[in-house]
Amino acid sequence: MRILLTGGCGFIGSAVVRHLIRATAHSVVNVDRMTYAASEDALEEARTHERHTLVRADVADLAAMQRLFAEHRPEAVMHLAAESHVDRSIDGPAVFIQTNVVGTFALLEAARGYWSALDAASRASFRFHHISTDEVFGALGDGDAPFTEATPYDPRSPYSASKAASDHLVRAWHHTYGLPVFVTNTTNNYGPWHFPEKLIPLVTINAIEGRELPVYGDGSNKRDWLFVEDHAEALVRAVEQGVPGETYAIGARQPRSNLEVVQTICRVLDDLRPDPAGPRERLIRFVSDRPGHDFRYEIDASHAEASLAWRAAHDFDRGIRRTVQWYLDHQDWWRAIRRKTYPGQRLGTAA
Ligand code: NAD
Repeated sequence: MRILLTGGCGFIGSAVVRHLIRATAHSVVNVDRMTYAASEDALEEARTHERHTLVRADVADLAAMQRLFAEHRPEAVMHLAAESHVDRSIDGPAVFIQTNVVGTFALLEAARGYWSALDAASRASFRFHHISTDEVFGALGDGDAPFTEATPYDPRSPYSASKAASDHLVRAWHHTYGLPVFVTNTTNNYGPWHFPEKLIPLVTINAIEGRELPVYGDGSNKRDWLFVEDHAEALVRAVEQGVPGETYAIGARQPRSNLEVVQTICRVLDDLRPDPAGPRERLIRFVSDRPGHDFRYEIDASHAEASLAWRAAHDFDRGIRRTVQWYLDHQDWWRAIRRKTYPGQRLGTAA
């Protein structure tokens, strides 16, 4: 397949591009605006591979998107480009509406114009895969059943509201125009090349440097944590096998409280690189909570696992061990980012 993939220099997009180049014969046109969250280094060997082309463009630029469809004639779209950090959406929501809502609208319109002019067989096999989050479903209480594809939408932050809006647009383009779309809603990811403002990389880096480890509230907020390479594999299976009109809720069945996450990172780092000053748990500090902090997200991934013949391969301990080792081995990358863009002691717990 020729795949037009947006946001391929971000955390998850780059994992998908690496997976496409390493494990499939598909070619990929990677459309990325190269915001603060993008890193060409994350493409690794895909960066110069003949089946990968990087185009710097804004998904909200309709004319640019129309030109890309005409030039590259994709057989599938994987739409990952987004503003993705909840804390940033609270401080400055405008860019979230622009990229996540207006950008998705422009991409859908460019895709629809191109798809309508295809011959019947190409129209039938074309796929538009929209990548979204479980945060659109709102928050769970401790005893609530996990989210499924049938859970009603109830977004609470500017980030999740903008993603919910984009999900609605994508489904409307299916029902109204027949565009062959499907949506994946996935739980929190972690792993290599994760920008150092989100919870797991932030805590790992602070722990490596012997700094304080800030934890929101009492640390009891829970997330279901999926290793990014497992997610990339699920997304590629979905673009190959996904059925138009469907939704796939993707998760790892690895729920952990934020405090458990931080304690696991400390334990693994103590094991890999002992600190003469003692166990890193001494660095944990509880700080005032994020406004409107959703308590718990968790996915029941049964439908996606059965229909895509996929299951997360990493349990949380193995994924964290690989992640901590990766941050130990890639200090040049995150130290350069911290010097250039890191806006002080920011926290993240969400996508
Ligand atoms: P990220 O912030 O790491 O990367 C986003 C990428 O999109 C960056 O490379 C950025 O330059 C690019 N981009 C931003 N605005 C753009 C624009 N206007 N035009 C073109 N490119 C633009 O995000 P991520 O964590 O890799 O998330 C990717 C997608 O997966 C998002 O849609 C996000 O909502 C979704 N998601 C993320 C998680 C998670 O845990 N990170 C979980 C579920 C779903």
